[in-house]
Amino acid sequence: MNHDDLRDWSKKAADWTHAYHAGLRDRPVRAPLNHGATAARLPDTPPEAAEPMEAIFADFERLVPDAMTHWQHPRFFAYFPANAAPASMLAEQLANSMAAQAMLWQTSPAATEMEEVMVRWLARALGLPEGFRGTIHDTATTATLAATLTMRERALDWAGLTRGLSAAPRLRIYASAETHSSIDKAVRVAGIGQENLVKVPTDAAHAMDPAALAALIRADRAAGYLPAGVVICCGGTSIGAFDRVAETIAVARAEDLYTHVDAAWAGSAMICPEFRPLWAGVEGADSVVFNPHKWLGAQFDCSVQFLADPVPQIRTLGLRPSFLETLGAGEVTNFNEWTLPLGRRFRALKLWFLIRAYGLDGLRQRIRNHVAWSEELARAIAARPGFEVTTGPALSLFTFALSAGDAATEALFTRINDDGRIYLTQTRHEGRFVIRLQVGSFDCTREDVMTTLDVLDDLAPA
Ligand SMILES: *Cc1c(COP(=O)(O)O)cnc(C)c1O
Repeated sequence: MNHDDLRDWSKKAADWTHAYHAGLRDRPVRAPLNHGATAARLPDTPPEAAEPMEAIFADFERLVPDAMTHWQHPRFFAYFPANAAPASMLAEQLANSMAAQAMLWQTSPAATEMEEVMVRWLARALGLPEGFRGTIHDTATTATLAATLTMRERALDWAGLTRGLSAAPRLRIYASAETHSSIDKAVRVAGIGQENLVKVPTDAAHAMDPAALAALIRADRAAGYLPAGVVICCGGTSIGAFDRVAETIAVARAEDLYTHVDAAWAGSAMICPEFRPLWAGVEGADSVVFNPHKWLGAQFDCSVQFLADPVPQIRTLGLRPSFLETLGAGEVTNFNEWTLPLGRRFRALKLWFLIRAYGLDGLRQRIRNHVAWSEELARAIAARPGFEVTTGPALSLFTFALSAGDAATEALFTRINDDGRIYLTQTRHEGRFVIRLQVGSFDCTREDVMTTLDVLDDLAPA
């Protein structure tokens, strides 16, 4: 395949893309659960001779789409969304066409400078104060690991980087049980250890109890531990829990601990001023992560981390061997020094296309609709005999269950996902099996959301 062929096949791929999206509503949302089916249809050995693109493309159409879960389906209500607005997909195609490696300013000046400007645009869009800077990671997991390593090194006065941790004091990180498992992963791989992630008790609203946090920090200091940081949950993955940000940061500040706010999903909603009270006090955080690739519409992957002061993170992650020095350009931003990988994609381009093509107002309208439709649907489900809304809605996420108990709820859940019209996921909340439902697909309509009631009419026990 050469670039002339690429042009022709790109046109075919564009036609395929159009037809795929036009037909999404007719597909079951979730892939059929027949494990091993795709692998069994692929040859065991790679071809020695080149194969024609006609055959490869035909096999793609035959093998792949029917074995996919359709994340852009308008009735995808599972997990959280991974929206890819068409304008952001177009930008990804262009970024892919140039296929640049944006590790340093000089390896792609436009990529670095646009990243700086897009982070500033988004800070403004979310109502964060002037002065926050930041960078774009692949995922929130990576951003949270970067923040956790910064907590570690700041607490150790950057001695861990050189001496390692074997003789270091035992560090402590604090978070509630509502925080995402990426925090657990971060403390594990940062060498802090799962046992040193202290799960702070929550109150009746599932928010971390700031007084309990203060007491735990004091007790840990008395016992010889070295408290390093607090991870604050804004929109937890299970039920959308929010910590009380201002009060929690006040406790962390008083103890000189670094704070990282995980708003991976809910951060997008903060483009709407009416939702900002949910994270009031966020301006005091050291680090905030949110994923435009979830609710906002930027094609995966795109996770933005805001930093009140980037220096501690750069001091933790930045290395500048002589072969990476930029000679003759003065002081420039080299984003690889802010993040874990050296290599980085040009992710800012899709934000630039997305925000311009829909405008903040267009993006706000979608999120407002999702929240309103989620509330409407939750009310309708709560009114059905035998059903309970168990949490929320928190923004556009709520959970529900059958009053008859876990077995009945789980059986209904299985019937819903086998049916295919909608796709939901489950969680455990206060010991119960509950069904999660979030409204957030970029192209969903009120009718798509209300289809849930038809599905329940057809499948729920009478
Ligand atoms: C999705 C999510 C994450 C993990 O996001 P990735 O970008 O997939 O790593 C972390 N925290 C919360 C609250 C999330 O919703």
